[in-house]
Amino acid sequence: MPRNAYVTLVTNADYADGAYALVRSLKLTGTEADIVVMHTGGVAVDDLVALEDLGAELVKADLLPTSAGFNERHARAKIHADHPFTKGDKPAFHTPLDNFAKLRLWELDEYDTVVFIDADAIVVRNIDKLFGYPEFSAAPNVYETLADFRRLNSGVFVAKPSRATFAAMLDKLDAPDALWPRTDQTFLQSFFPHWHGLPVFYNMLQYVWFNLPELWDWASVSVVHYQYEKPWQDDHAKADRLRPLIDLWQAYFDGESIPDVGSLPNPAKPAQ
Ligand code: UDP
Ligand code: MN
Repeated sequence: MPRNAYVTLVTNADYADGAYALVRSLKLTGTEADIVVMHTGGVAVDDLVALEDLGAELVKADLLPTSAGFNERHARAKIHADHPFTKGDKPAFHTPLDNFAKLRLWELDEYDTVVFIDADAIVVRNIDKLFGYPEFSAAPNVYETLADFRRLNSGVFVAKPSRATFAAMLDKLDAPDALWPRTDQTFLQSFFPHWHGLPVFYNMLQYVWFNLPELWDWASVSVVHYQYEKPWQDDHAKADRLRPLIDLWQAYFDGESIPDVGSLPNPAKPAQ
């Protein structure tokens, strides 16, 4: 039997909350694959217990052993100053350098195939068929215009763990003066130039809701990914426009009844 796992990453208490909704959503899909939460020392044990109680496996994963120069080039203040985020806001609890720890999933070589999912996403229908896809498969980074179908988003992807691949990645990642402005996403697109495209419904980015509402179809959406502002922030600039999606996340986080997404109303289409 092939060994499959869903894998996510948490490096602090905020993303542990995100992972809680994600793991809960995955369990509701009826999947039999393992669910692995990679965590750094930045998360208190108390914040991990709830994940274990849901049935997730906890795997300690240190931040990568990157050089001091690499760490300086990817420090939060430097990335935000040199490569500003102009489309949305990153919460204060988001540390760009932490993102690279995702690459540790290539060390999980007891699995044949893993599907990585960001901790700020929920899975709203069964996606086990992704375990049949090749490395490296990812959905497009589309949330503003359809012209962006050529870029990948690293919030959901299919990978084949291998220590040889992991070693090759570290070499390329921390080459002299290497700079990955959008962190693991920029890196993975470069490491896998011939990546396979997954249907956009496997990683529906929340901004599609108001920027490209004609693309949103609850009959097909399988993963909702809350890129930029997070649904568990007390309030944020786009909360009013994203209210139905925030309510959905909240239901997966601690709700007793979770709506059948196939029957949810799609966003209003723009006037013709
Ligand atoms: N992450 C984390 N701590 C951080 C930053 C990122 O645990 O400080 C993990 C978490 O799984 C998160 C993913 O890396 O979902 C990518 O970051 P995020 O989802 O915030 O980026 P976005 O989707 O907004 O680009
Ligand atoms: Mn994300």
